[in-house]
Amino acid sequence: MSDLTYDTDFVVIGSGFGGSVSALRLAEKGYRVTVLEQGRHWLPEALPATNWDFARWLWRPALGWRGFFALRFFRHVVVLHGNAVGGGCMIGCRIGAENTLDRTWASTPA
Ligand SMILES: Cc1cc2nc3c(=O)[nH]c(=O)nc-3n(C[C@H](O)[C@H](O)[C@H](O)COP(=O)(O)OP(=O)(O)OC[C@H]3O[C@@H](n4cnc5c(N)ncnc54)[C@H](O)[C@@H]3O)c2cc1C
Repeated sequence: MSDLTYDTDFVVIGSGFGGSVSALRLAEKGYRVTVLEQGRHWLPEALPATNWDFARWLWRPALGWRGFFALRFFRHVVVLHGNAVGGGCMIGCRIGAENTLDRTWASTPA
Protein backbone atom coordinates (compact mmCIF):
# COMPACT_ATOMS: atom_id res chain seq x y z
CA MET A 1 0.00 0.00 0.00
CA SER A 2 1.34 3.41 -0.98
CA ASP A 3 1.98 5.91 1.81
CA LEU A 4 1.31 8.84 -0.54
CA THR A 5 -1.36 11.19 0.72
CA TYR A 6 -3.44 13.64 -1.24
CA ASP A 7 -5.35 16.63 -0.04
CA THR A 8 -8.02 17.64 -2.52
CA ASP A 9 -11.43 19.27 -2.51
CA PHE A 10 -12.91 17.30 -5.41
CA VAL A 11 -12.14 14.05 -7.16
CA VAL A 12 -13.39 13.83 -10.74
CA ILE A 13 -13.52 10.35 -12.26
CA GLY A 14 -12.82 10.36 -15.98
CA SER A 15 -11.08 12.92 -18.17
CA GLY A 16 -13.57 13.08 -21.08
CA PHE A 17 -15.69 16.06 -22.05
CA GLY A 18 -17.69 15.88 -18.83
CA GLY A 19 -14.83 15.25 -16.42
CA SER A 20 -12.34 17.68 -17.89
CA VAL A 21 -14.79 20.58 -18.09
CA SER A 22 -15.99 19.91 -14.55
CA ALA A 23 -12.39 19.82 -13.31
CA LEU A 24 -11.57 23.05 -15.15
CA ARG A 25 -14.55 24.93 -13.75
CA LEU A 26 -13.83 23.75 -10.20
CA ALA A 27 -10.14 24.68 -10.52
CA GLU A 28 -11.10 28.10 -11.90
CA LYS A 29 -13.11 28.66 -8.70
CA GLY A 30 -10.00 27.89 -6.67
CA TYR A 31 -10.74 24.32 -5.58
CA ARG A 32 -8.03 21.67 -5.53
CA VAL A 33 -9.14 19.04 -8.01
CA THR A 34 -7.86 15.53 -8.69
CA VAL A 35 -8.82 13.81 -11.93
CA LEU A 36 -8.66 10.01 -12.00
CA GLU A 37 -8.42 8.43 -15.43
CA GLN A 38 -8.09 4.69 -16.00
CA GLY A 39 -6.98 4.92 -19.63
CA ARG A 40 -3.53 5.71 -20.98
CA HIS A 41 -2.19 9.03 -22.16
CA TRP A 42 -1.61 8.52 -25.88
CA LEU A 43 1.02 10.28 -27.91
CA PRO A 44 0.73 10.19 -31.71
CA GLU A 45 3.75 7.91 -32.18
CA ALA A 46 2.22 5.24 -29.90
CA LEU A 47 -1.06 4.97 -31.81
CA PRO A 48 -1.58 1.62 -33.56
CA ALA A 49 -0.97 1.66 -37.30
CA THR A 50 -3.82 -0.79 -37.88
CA ASN A 51 -7.01 -1.96 -36.13
CA TRP A 52 -5.54 -5.50 -36.11
CA ASP A 53 -3.24 -4.33 -33.32
CA PHE A 54 -5.99 -5.15 -30.81
CA ALA A 55 -3.82 -4.71 -27.71
CA ARG A 56 -3.18 -1.06 -28.54
CA TRP A 57 -6.58 -0.31 -30.03
CA LEU A 58 -9.15 -2.04 -27.79
CA TRP A 59 -9.72 -1.74 -24.05
CA ARG A 60 -9.93 -5.25 -22.60
CA PRO A 61 -7.74 -5.21 -19.46
CA ALA A 62 -8.57 -8.85 -18.65
CA LEU A 63 -6.72 -9.78 -21.86
CA GLY A 64 -3.94 -7.27 -21.26
CA TRP A 65 -5.32 -4.97 -23.98
CA ARG A 66 -5.14 -1.33 -22.90
CA GLY A 67 -6.11 0.51 -26.05
CA PHE A 68 -8.24 3.63 -26.23
CA PHE A 69 -11.45 2.16 -27.63
CA ALA A 70 -13.93 0.32 -25.42
CA LEU A 71 -16.97 -1.73 -26.40
CA ARG A 72 -19.64 -2.61 -23.85
CA PHE A 73 -22.25 -5.19 -24.80
CA PHE A 74 -25.72 -4.97 -23.31
CA ARG A 75 -28.81 -6.94 -24.24
CA HIS A 76 -30.20 -4.39 -26.73
CA VAL A 77 -27.33 -2.02 -27.33
CA VAL A 78 -23.58 -1.91 -27.80
CA VAL A 79 -21.84 1.18 -26.43
CA LEU A 80 -18.60 2.40 -28.01
CA HIS A 81 -16.62 4.82 -25.91
CA GLY A 82 -13.16 6.10 -25.29
CA ASN A 83 -10.86 4.91 -22.54
CA ALA A 84 -7.94 7.30 -22.49
CA VAL A 85 -6.77 10.64 -21.20
CA GLY A 86 -9.25 12.88 -22.99
CA GLY A 87 -12.01 10.24 -23.01
CA GLY A 88 -14.09 9.68 -26.14
CA CYS A 89 -13.10 13.00 -27.67
CA MET A 90 -9.60 11.58 -28.02
CA ILE A 91 -11.02 9.07 -30.54
CA GLY A 92 -13.08 11.66 -32.41
CA CYS A 93 -10.09 13.95 -32.79
CA ARG A 94 -7.84 11.13 -33.98
CA ILE A 95 -10.36 10.08 -36.60
CA GLY A 96 -10.75 13.72 -37.64
CA ALA A 97 -7.00 14.09 -38.06
CA GLU A 98 -6.93 11.13 -40.44
CA ASN A 99 -10.05 11.83 -42.50
CA THR A 100 -9.91 12.54 -46.22
CA LEU A 101 -13.31 14.23 -46.55
CA ASP A 102 -11.88 17.62 -47.48
CA ARG A 103 -9.91 16.14 -50.35
CA THR A 104 -12.94 14.12 -51.50
CA TRP A 105 -15.16 17.18 -51.53
CA ALA A 106 -12.51 19.24 -53.26
CA SER A 107 -12.34 16.75 -56.13
CA THR A 108 -16.13 16.43 -56.54
CA PRO A 109 -17.45 18.35 -59.58
CA ALA A 110 -19.89 21.14 -58.64
C1 LIG B 1 -15.60 6.92 -32.27
C2 LIG B 1 -16.26 8.14 -31.65
C3 LIG B 1 -16.26 9.33 -32.34
C4 LIG B 1 -16.86 10.47 -31.80
N1 LIG B 1 -16.84 11.62 -32.49
C5 LIG B 1 -17.38 12.74 -31.98
C6 LIG B 1 -17.33 13.98 -32.67
O1 LIG B 1 -16.75 14.08 -33.77
N2 LIG B 1 -17.91 15.08 -32.11
C7 LIG B 1 -18.54 14.99 -30.88
O2 LIG B 1 -19.03 16.01 -30.40
N3 LIG B 1 -18.61 13.82 -30.20
C8 LIG B 1 -18.05 12.70 -30.71
N4 LIG B 1 -18.12 11.52 -30.02
C9 LIG B 1 -18.89 11.47 -28.78
C10 LIG B 1 -18.09 12.04 -27.63
O3 LIG B 1 -16.78 11.51 -27.64
C11 LIG B 1 -18.81 11.67 -26.32
O4 LIG B 1 -20.13 12.15 -26.34
C12 LIG B 1 -18.08 12.29 -25.13
O5 LIG B 1 -16.72 11.88 -25.12
C13 LIG B 1 -18.76 11.87 -23.82
O6 LIG B 1 -18.07 12.53 -22.78
P1 LIG B 1 -18.07 11.95 -21.32
O7 LIG B 1 -17.20 12.85 -20.49
O8 LIG B 1 -19.49 11.72 -20.88
O9 LIG B 1 -17.44 10.47 -21.41
P2 LIG B 1 -16.07 9.98 -22.02
O10 LIG B 1 -15.47 10.96 -22.98
O11 LIG B 1 -16.32 8.58 -22.48
O12 LIG B 1 -15.07 9.96 -20.75
C14 LIG B 1 -15.19 9.05 -19.72
C15 LIG B 1 -13.78 8.77 -19.22
O13 LIG B 1 -13.89 8.15 -17.93
C16 LIG B 1 -12.90 7.15 -17.84
N5 LIG B 1 -13.38 6.21 -16.84
C17 LIG B 1 -14.50 5.46 -16.86
N6 LIG B 1 -14.62 4.75 -15.76
C18 LIG B 1 -13.54 5.06 -14.99
C19 LIG B 1 -13.09 4.63 -13.71
N7 LIG B 1 -13.80 3.75 -12.98
N8 LIG B 1 -11.94 5.13 -13.21
C20 LIG B 1 -11.22 6.04 -13.95
N9 LIG B 1 -11.59 6.48 -15.17
C21 LIG B 1 -12.75 5.99 -15.68
C22 LIG B 1 -12.81 6.57 -19.23
O14 LIG B 1 -11.55 5.95 -19.43
C23 LIG B 1 -12.99 7.81 -20.09
O15 LIG B 1 -11.75 8.39 -20.45
C24 LIG B 1 -17.50 10.39 -30.53
C25 LIG B 1 -17.48 9.17 -29.81
C26 LIG B 1 -16.86 8.07 -30.35
C27 LIG B 1 -16.82 6.77 -29.56
